[in-house]
Amino acid sequence: MQSESSFPADAQPDQLTGMIIDGSRGIYRVETDAGVFTCTIRGKLRKSFAYPESANGRHSARQVKVNQRDPVAIGNRVTIQVLSATTGVIEAVIATEAGSLTRGDPDYGATTSVAGLDRLIVVFAARDPAPHLRLLDRFIVLAEAQGLELAVCLNKCDLGEPEWLSARLAVYARLGYPVVRVSATTGAGIADLRALVSGRTAALVGPSGVGKSSVLNALEPGLAQRVGATSNASGKGRHTTTSARMVSLAGGGHLADTAGIRALAFHDLARPLDQTFREFTPYLGRCRWPNCAHLQETDCAIRQAVATGEIDRERYSSYARLRDPAAWQEDIWEEA
Ligand code: GDP
Ligand code: ZN
Repeated sequence: MQSESSFPADAQPDQLTGMIIDGSRGIYRVETDAGVFTCTIRGKLRKSFAYPESANGRHSARQVKVNQRDPVAIGNRVTIQVLSATTGVIEAVIATEAGSLTRGDPDYGATTSVAGLDRLIVVFAARDPAPHLRLLDRFIVLAEAQGLELAVCLNKCDLGEPEWLSARLAVYARLGYPVVRVSATTGAGIADLRALVSGRTAALVGPSGVGKSSVLNALEPGLAQRVGATSNASGKGRHTTTSARMVSLAGGGHLADTAGIRALAFHDLARPLDQTFREFTPYLGRCRWPNCAHLQETDCAIRQAVATGEIDRERYSSYARLRDPAAWQEDIWEEA
């Protein structure tokens, strides 16, 4: 569906719906069933109105603010007004999808984001480099806060999986996060991974060197290049791409280019942190103090569950760490 539209001029419907797949600063490409349209944004979508209330209670628009940032994100589903076989105007965002990732834009400092994600796949290697599961906990918080499904992809399984890792991953599997084991080298498990992304709007994230590019290319030849994953998947040294993008998959669905993601912003959290740890749910509201932070408080149901082993201690320690907003300032890929 990436090909340019060859729509006959006399048969154009006025309006189409589609997904913003790439673009920036006012010009976006929208993928529809009738092809890809290069679109500008309708002026009124950019403006927000301030309505100061006058003494007699009537509203009048006193200020019209033209937003600095575009009111759309890559991944948004939008309606467009068709102008020609290949051009149009974005009229409206159909739904502001919850599943989004914010990425630092190396070129102009601002952040752009991908939206409309419904699944996040966190890639680690069985060995070389050893997985860093605190990072996984951070992605889980982000996913849970937005109702985004999350799965773990363990690559390089041909190298063998250390026992400690199997034990740790079993904790996540018990929590209901699927763990797929693959080898980009041998092709093992790639079909399972394909099943996880097919028909989805997914993002694959993971530290550098885990084999993200190799896994993408095992999924579909050339996919790593299209998604923008380089051998430096964390985005370091990748200063050429100015915007996020969505890539359509041969088997249906889309993958987001997430190569520039540097930080996961704390303010993105739409739910209290303790609600993003699934295993805490049965205990929430049972602490002595209604506003319990589950850190030092006496009679804390969460801490008691940690003490009895009902809640995994490592997961709890991730929680305690992430209570500190400073933990969210760090570059996610630099975390020790
Ligand atoms: P990325 O930085 O996450 O995109 O990782 P790459 O795809 O560039 O892979 C990093 C290194 O791991 C390369 O040397 C790959 O050849 C190697 N690699 C990738 N996948 C596998 C795998 O399944 N098994 C093994 N043994 N090595 C792999
Ligand atoms: Zn508590």
